[in-house]
Amino acid sequence: MARGTGNKISKSTRKKTMLTQKICRFCADKVSSIIFYDIKSLKPLISDAGKIVPARISGNCAKHQRELTTAIKRARNIALLSFSEAH
Ligand SMILES: [Zn+2]
Repeated sequence: MARGTGNKISKSTRKKTMLTQKICRFCADKVSSIIFYDIKSLKPLISDAGKIVPARISGNCAKHQRELTTAIKRARNIALLSFSEAH
């Protein structure tokens, strides 16, 4: 049951990822609440496949990531964003 490629990460790539500091963009902009109809701020946090970019990649803090998921789901529900890229 060998799963995951986590162990295959070489030391050099690990060092690189540790050096790149990620800052929560909403904390940096001092956004108190994420507005779901503000598509401009939501679009960059959605992958090409239409998925929500995880916090470990986007660098968002837990609080804002939680608010972001709710905002994206609300925007999808009123068809401001797509559920998937194909449709
Ligand atoms: Zn934040």
